Formats: sequence, structure tokens, C-alpha cells
Amino acid sequence: MKRQKISILGATGSIGVNTLRVIRDNSHLYEVHALTAHNNIGLLYEQCLAFNPAVVVTGSVTSAAELAARLKAKGQPTEVLYGPEALVAVACAVEVDIVMAAIVGGAGLLPTFAAARAGKKILLANKESLVMAGELFMDAALSSKATVLPIDSEHNAIFQCLPINRSGHFDQAPAKGFRKMVLTASGGPFRELPLQHLARVTPEQACNHPNWKMGRKISVDSATLVNKALELIEASYLFATPAQNIEIVVHPQSIVHSMVYYSDGSVLAQLGNPDMRTPIAYGLAWPERIEAGVAPLDLALLGRLDFMPPDEQKFPGLALGRKVAASRGAAPIIFNAANEIAVAAFLAAELGFDQIPVIIDRVLQGLDCASPRTLEDVLEIDVMTRRKAHEFASMMQGRNRVTS
Ligand code: NAD
Ligand code: MG
Repeated sequence: MKRQKISILGATGSIGVNTLRVIRDNSHLYEVHALTAHNNIGLLYEQCLAFNPAVVVTGSVTSAAELAARLKAKGQPTEVLYGPEALVAVACAVEVDIVMAAIVGGAGLLPTFAAARAGKKILLANKESLVMAGELFMDAALSSKATVLPIDSEHNAIFQCLPINRSGHFDQAPAKGFRKMVLTASGGPFRELPLQHLARVTPEQACNHPNWKMGRKISVDSATLVNKALELIEASYLFATPAQNIEIVVHPQSIVHSMVYYSDGSVLAQLGNPDMRTPIAYGLAWPERIEAGVAPLDLALLGRLDFMPPDEQKFPGLALGRKVAASRGAAPIIFNAANEIAVAAFLAAELGFDQIPVIIDRVLQGLDCASPRTLEDVLEIDVMTRRKAHEFASMMQGRNRVTS
């Protein structure tokens, strides 16, 4: 059988590395066409030697030149490109069957959208692109007959529990008899920390997730529960489901990855050890299943599974996200961009952890934008929001300096 060709956008990140692990274990089924990375050239070089891609893309002309020289010295024939246009090119190249969209943040939007327009099988980890482009993204995928398979563990779980799982095209709301979906949330590293201590937590503490080893941005999002808000918006677009039919429950062990409730009282859930290779392998092989290298779940050893409601007073980003998910329009773009700026400022130790939702709230209140009709509208709202969020972040930073 012919092996399927894959482009991995964001190959050096946590999802990218796990994708390559699954591909290595199933190399009779998949081969790498392209790998991309922003600036971790050392790891990208190692990946080139191990997977022999036809093309790689880096973030800058200098990093591309450095990588090309190192590969040439090894006699490796990989073509080295750089920049956003090259990302788009490898996402829609004719020879590519599958695109793993694993760039973090809004930077993933253009290549992921290009893959949707080009009718690819998209493994969607980059939730921000769907949050930003929402219906436009799903419409593009529908008209090109692209297949969108969610890699976010919660959405992958829901996908596995829905009958529309058969099509992978999501051109309709969930089946008859569907009642609601429930996204599980680990609660993050500060689930038990008293509210008054949140202002002083450090980036290292915020990135120390109890169950998952992930990139820094999504780790902070998990700690603020903004990640769950982004996932609520993501689920509502992906599964054509109104936000009021999507609930959140905190489940600290991250074993039940999410659930679907049906009108006859049935609840379907997907369980497994918290390891992203499971959803990645499911997305790669769908509708088949392949070996993911993940240890089987031992429920007797676990002994118990706990569930509780989220604390939206302590984590106001979740309540904000719920409103944004219900209103749709430009709000999800603003929510996402303001969060990205606030998280970057927190990671640079310029803002307090508790100031992240404050910035998001202020920016949401300070901007009034019409619903986007085109991808260009989305990008315009994104740029405008980032400018506004920077202004608020600098103001707050100034105040932090005065009071500290
Ligand atoms: P990461 O920070 O570990 O990796 C990000 C990747 O994107 C890297 O390869 C980096 O080089 C690349 N990148 C960063 N900025 C870029 C830019 N401006 N242009 C081009 N490339 C750029 O992130 P991650 O944890 O792997 O997450 C990737 C995406 O998957 C995110 O959208 C995240 O929300 C989603 N996701 C991750 C997990 C997880 O377990 N890590 C789970 C669910 C969803
Ligand atoms: Mg998730």
C-alpha cells in the first residue's frame, strides 16, 4: 500500500514531537513530506536526519541558511525554505495527504486555513485557528471536502463518541437524540491554590501541569482555564453545537477525556491515559486504529475518578469564554488575541497571572467589531486586538512597577 504523505506544521513542539513518535512506530503507513519549526533549528536538524523530509520550513532567513548548511554538510537533500508563505505552500502541496496543524497560536491560522481550502485531511491541534476563523474555516473545509479531525484530546474524545464520526465532514449538528456534550478539565496546577495566592504565581509554576507535558502557552492557558474557554468555542464550531449545550466539568485525573449525553440517558465517554499519542494516532489512522505506544489504562490501579464543577470566580477567563462562545462574531478573535498578548507578557514576567483575564475582559469591552465575513476581516480584527492588548498590558505593567 502507498504510504500517506504528511506535513507537520510545528514539528518541534510537544504535539509535533509526539506525532513523529507515532509516525516512527507506523513508518509502513506514513512518510514525512515537510517539517516546520519557528526557531528550534537544533531539533529540526535531528528530525531531518531521522525522517528525511522533502522540505523543511523555518521562521527566518538566518535560521534557514544555518540549517541548509548543516544539512548540506551531511549530504542530506532536504529543501530548506522559510517564512509564512512557505508554511502555506507545504500545507497545500499537491503531494500531501495529511496536514498536522500543530503551530501554537494565531500564527497557525494561515497555513491551517490553506489546508482547509486545499481539501486536505487536517489533524487539528492548533485550536486557535478554529477559534479565530470559526464558521469561515468550517465552510472552507466543507466546500473543499477537507476532513477535519480534532487532536485536542477533549474534541477527539467527543468525535469518538458521536455517530457523525462516520463522515468526518461535520456538515450537520450532532445526531438525533443528542442532549449535550461535556468537556473535562484537569483544573490545572492551581486548582487547589487559594484565590489570594494567584497574583504571585510564577511562569514556571504555571507551566508545571499536573497531567500533561505541553508547550508553555497552552500550559498557561490550562492554568487560567482559558484553555477550556478556547475549547468550548472550538467545540461549538467543530460540532455545530450551541455553547449552551456544552458543559465543563473538572476531572483532576484527566482519564475521561470528554463525554456525550443522549436523550435516552446514555452517556458515552472516551477514556485513556493522558498521552497525546492516542488522539494523534486516532486522527492519523481514522477510521482505522493503529498502535500509539500508549500504556493501557489500569482502572483498578487508579481506584477512583473525581469530578467537580469549575470555580469560575477563581478563574474568570472561563466565564468570559462562555459569553464569547455564545455571542460568536468577532468576540472569539478578540478573546484569543488578547489572551495571547497577556500570556506572552506573563511568561516574560511583565504581568501577574491574575491580570491575564483582566486584560482579556478590558480588550473585549474596549473593542466593537462587526462579524468577520472573510479571512482578511479575521486578520484585521486580530491585528487591532493585539495593538489594544499591548496598550493595556503596558499600562498595567507601569502600574505594577509603581506598586511593587
Ligand atoms: P509548542 O509551543 O510545544 O510548539 C509550538 C510549535 O509551533 C513549535 O514547533 C514552534 O516552532 C512552532 N511555532 C511557534 N511560533 C510559531 C510561528 N510564529 N510561526 C511558525 N511556527 C511557530 O506547542 P504545543 O504544546 O505543541 O501546542 C501546539 C498546538 O496544539 C497549540 O495550538 C495547542 O493549543 C494545541 N494543543 C496542544 C496540546 C499538547 O498536549 N501540547 C494538546 C491539545 C492541543
Ligand atoms: Mg485539550
